[in-house]
Amino acid sequence: MYHHIKKLMFTVRVGQPDPRFGNMLLEQFGGANGELAAAMQYSIQGLNCEDMACKDLLMDIGTEELSHLEIIGTLARMHLKPMKKRADAAEHDPLIAIAGGGGVALHNSTGNPWTADYLKVTGELDVDLRSNIAAEARAKIVYERLINFCDDPGTKEALQFLMTREITHMRAFMQALDNLGKHPLSIGLIPPTPGIVDQYYNDSTGEGDHGEVDTTGPWNTDIQVVESPALKEFQATRATPKAGRTTEDGNGAAQPPKRTRATKAPTRRR
Ligand code: MN
Ligand code: MN
Repeated sequence: MYHHIKKLMFTVRVGQPDPRFGNMLLEQFGGANGELAAAMQYSIQGLNCEDMACKDLLMDIGTEELSHLEIIGTLARMHLKPMKKRADAAEHDPLIAIAGGGGVALHNSTGNPWTADYLKVTGELDVDLRSNIAAEARAKIVYERLINFCDDPGTKEALQFLMTREITHMRAFMQALDNLGKHPLSIGLIPPTPGIVDQYYNDSTGEGDHGEVDTTGPWNTDIQVVESPALKEFQATRATPKAGRTTEDGNGAAQPPKRTRATKAPTRRR
């Protein structure tokens, strides 16, 4: 059950209301990475969760996110309220001023309505926890950007609190995932196909005009690197443009590429 207490989780003070900034705050009210999305994602995952320890975690954090929604909504409302009476502010955002009367509604900073499509709920606990870790990281970076665009000290304090809690949640979800004791690459029950799982497809090659390189890293070092079948086909076709055939075929039809060439950790490939 839910119970509302007439007190904010963090006291909100606003010095000078800034309707434009209030508009930006709506990103964390009704946006894709906002507080309502977080509250609904964790609470609904919690309803589906059969691991009672993780269910408790999901319900704890899902409920805290509702309290965050209340804080960000209160804060946004304090900044948006002047829109109701100020023509300049109303011209800046008719949606909030004319339709909303300077209040908050469940849309993002550009007026797109909140949607349940934002939620990631798979019914697989470890997969859901990974989504939640990513969601917390996104919420954190959005708060950081809002702080960077904010001049009002009271508003900044509240945003700093909300941003900090996302890191605390992120850590809790990471610890819960770790506590499941699953190998990080073990998802579900069906094992991946041997061989294919250990191939790296080098599907983006060459060097770009802005410093883009075909590079190597841990992801393509101790693994079988397969050069792009599409690139091999392109190179072969270019070698015999008039015939419109590849050097690899005999009758104009492309043959299945011979595509396994293992390379061992060069510093840079072309
Ligand atoms: Mn939050
Ligand atoms: Mn959070």
